[in-house]
Amino acid sequence: MKPHKQIKDWGLGLNSPLIIAGPCSAESPEQIESICKGMIEENVIPSLFRVGIWKPRTRPGSFEGIGEEGLKWMEIVRHHLNIPVTTEVGNAGHVEIALKNKVDVLWIGARTTVNPFAVQEIAEALKGVDIPVMVKNPMNPDLDLWMGAIERMHAVGIDKLAAIHRGFSDAYDKRFRNKPNWSMPIHLKRVWEGMEVINDPSHIVGKRDGILEISQRAMNFGLDGLMIETHHDPDNAWSDAKQQVTPRALKEILQSIDFKNPME
Ligand code: PEP
Ligand code: MN
Repeated sequence: MKPHKQIKDWGLGLNSPLIIAGPCSAESPEQIESICKGMIEENVIPSLFRVGIWKPRTRPGSFEGIGEEGLKWMEIVRHHLNIPVTTEVGNAGHVEIALKNKVDVLWIGARTTVNPFAVQEIAEALKGVDIPVMVKNPMNPDLDLWMGAIERMHAVGIDKLAAIHRGFSDAYDKRFRNKPNWSMPIHLKRVWEGMEVINDPSHIVGKRDGILEISQRAMNFGLDGLMIETHHDPDNAWSDAKQQVTPRALKEILQSIDFKNPME
C-alpha cells in the first residue's frame, strides 16, 4: 500500500499515543454532558471523543443506537471539551449522515470489517472525501481481512488511516471477551511500516478489571494509542455496562501507565 498520513498529519492536532475516550453509546444529551463534565472535573481530557450512534448488536432486542439525533449532541462535546469526535459507520447511509453532522473521524467496527461488501460500500461513499478513518480488526483473527478493509479505504483516496486492535472473538476463552492475539497488530505494524494501531482494551477485556494491564501491554508492544470506553455511570450504561469506566477510573488508568519506558 502507498504511504498514508499518520495521526499527527490528520490536521486535527492529534498525536500518538492517541487517547480516545467516550461512551460505548450515546444515550441522551444529559449523559454526554455528564461525561464531559466528569472529564473536566477529573482533568482527564482525551484527544478524541468516541461515541457509538449506530450499534451493531450481536443479538436483536438490545439497544441498537440512538441514531442521527445523537450526532447533534456532539456540539456538547465541542462546547465543553473542544476536541474532535469519532463515531462508527456501518453502511453508506451512516457515512452520509455522519459527514452531514461534521463528525471529525470515522471508524469501522469489527462486525463490518468482516464483510468486504459493506466495507466497499463505505469506501464508495467516501470517494473524494477528506476524513480520517480508523479500521477495527475483524471479529475473527484474519489479518488479510483487516488489511483488506484498510486497503479498500486507501483505494478510494482516504489517506488518513489508522487501525484499531479490539481483540478477536473466541467462544472458548474465559478470560477475555475478545482474545488479544498480540501477534496480529504487531504483524500489521511490521508489514505496513508507519501504520499506527490503537489498542481498545475495553472490548478485549469486556470488564473494568484488566483494562490497565492490557493498556500497558499495548504500550509495551509499541502500539500507538488507546480507546477506552468511558461513562459517568457505567453500571447503568445502555450497552457494554460491564467494561465502561468512570472519568476518575480513566484518569487512574492513564496515570498508572508507563508511556515513556513501557518495557520497565
Ligand atoms: C464499540 O466500539 O462500541 C463496538 C461496537 O466495537 P467493536 O466493533 O469493536 O465490537
Ligand atoms: Mn462498546
